[in-house]
Amino acid sequence: MSEDSIYQKLRGNLAYLRLSAAAEALPGELEHAMRHKLGHSAFLERLLEVEVAATEARRRESLERFARLPAPWRISDFDFDAQPTVDKAMVNELATLRFLEDATNVLFIGPPGVGKTMLAVALARASIDAGYRTHYTTAADLVARCHRAALEGRWATTMRFFAGPRLLVIDEVGYLPLAQEAAAALFQVITQRYLKGSICLTTNLGVGSWGKIFDDPMVAAAMLDRLLHRSVVFNIDGDSYRMREHRARSERLRAPSKPDGRK
Ligand code: ADP
Ligand code: MG
Repeated sequence: MSEDSIYQKLRGNLAYLRLSAAAEALPGELEHAMRHKLGHSAFLERLLEVEVAATEARRRESLERFARLPAPWRISDFDFDAQPTVDKAMVNELATLRFLEDATNVLFIGPPGVGKTMLAVALARASIDAGYRTHYTTAADLVARCHRAALEGRWATTMRFFAGPRLLVIDEVGYLPLAQEAAAALFQVITQRYLKGSICLTTNLGVGSWGKIFDDPMVAAAMLDRLLHRSVVFNIDGDSYRMREHRARSERLRAPSKPDGRK
């Protein structure tokens, strides 16, 4: 075979194997190999590295899209000094993601604005960065999706979807009361992940008040039972971070500044 037809065959084979990044990089890499007198292994290593990098980038993008995180928060963005009721050592332990190994759940409980969503999203971010399938949803969104799925005959598929991710974040449980059908959907999602996959859940209601969100206190109790069985619970109280910032700003504005600029 001539040099040219070998080249054509090689390109064809790379395309057939769907190694499109390598196929595209082939002419450049061949030239580089010639110029630098690379051996066969060195050339092949470089060519495959191009494909591996492209596959890895695609995988990351797909994990990222799948996760649907509402914000780019990281644990390092969280100001622990501002929220002394959050156990920093425990958050750092969770950030190692060991809790995913035995399907431990994480509950952030507290009033609005104390950083529950931020912490949940930051853990989800760590989980994505470690390559785990991770998905963020709010309770309202989850029940709406389940409701639609039931109407469209996709219930089983949707349940499988929520069972799939290594970490499922369910944000804002308790802001809206959940009618029986909605509670049943949430209950099923929690039940099928029980001891299989971690849930990170945020709620404004202390566990004692969960009966209030659900018509049926038995369902609430059963849900809590499964969630809490293997779990880490943060009870965050204190001021809303936004309110605190707002107050600090108004105080700065009110305080007369000294002539040298100091307060
Ligand atoms: P929650 O979910 O508890 O209502 P969020 O997580 O949405 O509160 O936080 C409200 C806002 O305050 C967000 O913009 C968040 O980034 C910020 N915030 C809250 N707590 C902290 C904190 N300890 N450090 C930095 N930002 C915080
Ligand atoms: Mg929130």
